[in-house]
Amino acid sequence: MSSQVHEFQAEARQLLDLVVHSIYSNKDSFLRELISNASDALDKLRLESLTNTDLDADTSDLHVRLTPDTQARTLTVADNGIGMGRDEVVDLIGTVAKSGTAKLRQALSESGDAAASEELIGQFGIGFYSVFMVADRVVMVTRKAGESIGTRWESTGDGTYTIDDAADAPQGTSITLTLKPVDTDNSLHDYADPQVLRSLVKRYSDFISWPIRMFETVEVPAEEEGGEPTQEQSDVTLNSQKALWAKIPSEVAPEEYAEFYRHVSHQWDSPLETISMHAEGTFEYQALMFIPSQAPMTMFAPERPCNLQLYVRRVFISDDVPELLPTYLRFVHGVVDANDLSLNVSREILQQDRQIRAIRRRLVKKVIGTVQEMQDRKPEDYAGFWNNFGAVFKEGLAGDQDNFQAILKASVFDSTASDDERTTLADYIERCPAEQKVIYYMTGESRKQIERSPHLEGFRAKGIEVLLLSDPVDEFWTSQMPEFDGRTFVSVAKGEAGLDDEDDDAGTDRDAEFADLLTWLTGVLDADVSTSRLTKRLTDSAACLVGEEFSISPQMEKLYRASGQ
Ligand code: ADP
Ligand code: MG
Repeated sequence: MSSQVHEFQAEARQLLDLVVHSIYSNKDSFLRELISNASDALDKLRLESLTNTDLDADTSDLHVRLTPDTQARTLTVADNGIGMGRDEVVDLIGTVAKSGTAKLRQALSESGDAAASEELIGQFGIGFYSVFMVADRVVMVTRKAGESIGTRWESTGDGTYTIDDAADAPQGTSITLTLKPVDTDNSLHDYADPQVLRSLVKRYSDFISWPIRMFETVEVPAEEEGGEPTQEQSDVTLNSQKALWAKIPSEVAPEEYAEFYRHVSHQWDSPLETISMHAEGTFEYQALMFIPSQAPMTMFAPERPCNLQLYVRRVFISDDVPELLPTYLRFVHGVVDANDLSLNVSREILQQDRQIRAIRRRLVKKVIGTVQEMQDRKPEDYAGFWNNFGAVFKEGLAGDQDNFQAILKASVFDSTASDDERTTLADYIERCPAEQKVIYYMTGESRKQIERSPHLEGFRAKGIEVLLLSDPVDEFWTSQMPEFDGRTFVSVAKGEAGLDDEDDDAGTDRDAEFADLLTWLTGVLDADVSTSRLTKRLTDSAACLVGEEFSISPQMEKLYRASGQ
């Protein structure tokens, strides 16, 4: 099972082609991708060695090393992190084993726009492929920590790759790029030039917590006059390694935050909001959270319920701690660094930890507060946020009793007041007449479907505003009979809906006049309706079905039926 030649999966090949030829406008970003992967690999090894004390791995000097070779025009990016087993190499590099590749390709071919394409690529976690923008040949040698035999992978990015055993591979991963010719017109810089590398690391990867080192040749002046200067190699660390979340926000440039966001989120956009928290007192922690400006394609994937990384005193612990944030805030990316947790804290402990629960409460309030502030002060940002994440955010109305009012307040809703603008509840209340003490709404599958409903006719005729609620979660929270600002929510599709009993002195006469008809109707429809009555609800339609005041709505009935209840 040593040397094997493999073909890329057809889809992977096409994708590769796209990456190399059309997509990234900024070819420099390959370096950030490789360093980001190396940093992840070092995090993973550090973590593994904390929990698995038998692991036969050296963790004494974890770092990333760049080795440029100007003569050979190669660049090697190496780490002594967790490494990969042979299967992992085949899996992760040979095939884009992740779902959604076809979808990505389609999305890419539809969006001719380079910046949007970069975002798309980042969302699919195919960062490694970006090496083929700058290299004609890529050799990867990797050995998984704890294993004795390594793997050597090589490809020219043209559809095939070879894979061999590598007996003497050092622990970790080293990736050697044979660089394409410099082509500054196409933003292909000289990545074998130490000065270029130094400035790229500064720009994109300064905050990486592991040292990124490079040997640099420095000229040492001759000791005696007239003598030749000598060249000396010195090992320099290129990044400052400062944890961004520990810094005072005013000392961090927005672009630094943006790069950090891209590193933790594996996305390409810039954050819409950056939230920095420094908590002192009983539980000391720092948090740095981001609300993205773009929705990732995989947001609805259930496997990532929380996108915060947990650190303990600057040491990465886990990126899988669902306790840190509720799922309706899964669009938030970032880190939490807690001071008082133990470094080898286990899953079980995290689940019950009082500190984690306290932190979560604060983070949730802070994120909702930030959304609220955006709504108040940056209507355009808020509108973008709502388009991307509104439906997810609103899931909190069904699951988070403690913050229900705050989430309601920070949300917007379709309403009969406008065809294209959503309204806050505060604005709804401000518009409605003083004597109206309730908030009218109707739920349905879509705005269009709701608008066709005869239930709305009477309200339209009277100019009474009705909220048009069409997200699946709307059924759940409205069925809890909530209140907002002292006003109850009333469905226009249920009961009397408040329209019929106003100034209706002729009502009794009309009831008498139509008594026979009503009795007859109730009789005929016996199996299907419980009663027939006259209504002012309608203006054009002759009749409509309404639910009883405290009955479940048709939508809810459907949901129940679908779930087998
Ligand atoms: P992402 O980083 O978003 O997962 P990449 O294409 O950058 O996507 O990398 C794919 C996968 O390859 C990583 O998730 C990781 O498992 C593996 N990988 C890449 N580089 C390294 C490395 N230096 N050490 C260990 N594993 C790596
Ligand atoms: Mg990556």
